[in-house]
Amino acid sequence: MNRGLKLALIGASAIAAMSMPGVASAQEISSVAEGIHVIQGRGGNIGVSVGADGVFMIDDQFAPATQAILDQIKTVSDQPVRFLLNTHFHRDHTGGNENLGNAGVLIFAHDNVRARLLAGDAPKAALPVVTFNDATTFHMNGQTVRVFHTSNAHTDGDAMIHFQEADVIHMGDTFFNGFYPFIDAKSGGSVEGVFAAIDTVLALADADTIIIPGHGPVGDRADLIAYREMLTKARESISPLIADGKSVEDIVAAKPTAEFDADWGGGFLNPERFLRVMHAALTK
Ligand SMILES: [Zn+2]
Repeated sequence: MNRGLKLALIGASAIAAMSMPGVASAQEISSVAEGIHVIQGRGGNIGVSVGADGVFMIDDQFAPATQAILDQIKTVSDQPVRFLLNTHFHRDHTGGNENLGNAGVLIFAHDNVRARLLAGDAPKAALPVVTFNDATTFHMNGQTVRVFHTSNAHTDGDAMIHFQEADVIHMGDTFFNGFYPFIDAKSGGSVEGVFAAIDTVLALADADTIIIPGHGPVGDRADLIAYREMLTKARESISPLIADGKSVEDIVAAKPTAEFDADWGGGFLNPERFLRVMHAALTK
């Protein structure tokens, strides 16, 4: 932890930023609602709530980006970062935990996030200090911030966050907006669980709700419905091949998701990797 980072975190003003060329320029903060922002960079989408009660962060990308992320937050708040919530344990969402934990930010996550970070030999400062098994609620910056677990979806430790008054929902990696999703079956993820997470949010959201995905542009209910339809059809075309005893190589060669590949296969996962992810999840 460098001195500049620590001072930035405690809210001191006019500290010369420790600039990290390349990383700094990759970060971009944008407002999605009164007091709520999204930072997009190299890892998962960061949610930020700002106001008189301090800064509440959702996820933190990778460690080298911490200073650039804090610099972005300083453009919208002179308050310190008080709380960090991890949507799940993957490194592109928790890589900044050690920096932030060392600076005194209190880290929250589902029980299984802490367990998986511990199993991965994460340093103590990177570990969530407060964990929950079902739900918890923050009351700050004029928002009721409902945080709730959705079981066995992208992983076995996913949390989704609903800023009720602002009508903003952060879905973590249960939603990849416009891209084929990764489902981490080895870490307890499942296709059924992703559908359950989507349906939970569809029940909470209306046409005006802003939905922040783990990856991809900020979206809304219509985007989530399109995502659900793609996943439904992908499962419908892959499942019979698995039932017929086709190997994963056969399934990749058969291109069962061809109709979606141009629209959905250009991001996080290409069509082949998506088929391998789906095969792994559907044969677990
Ligand atoms: Zn992830």
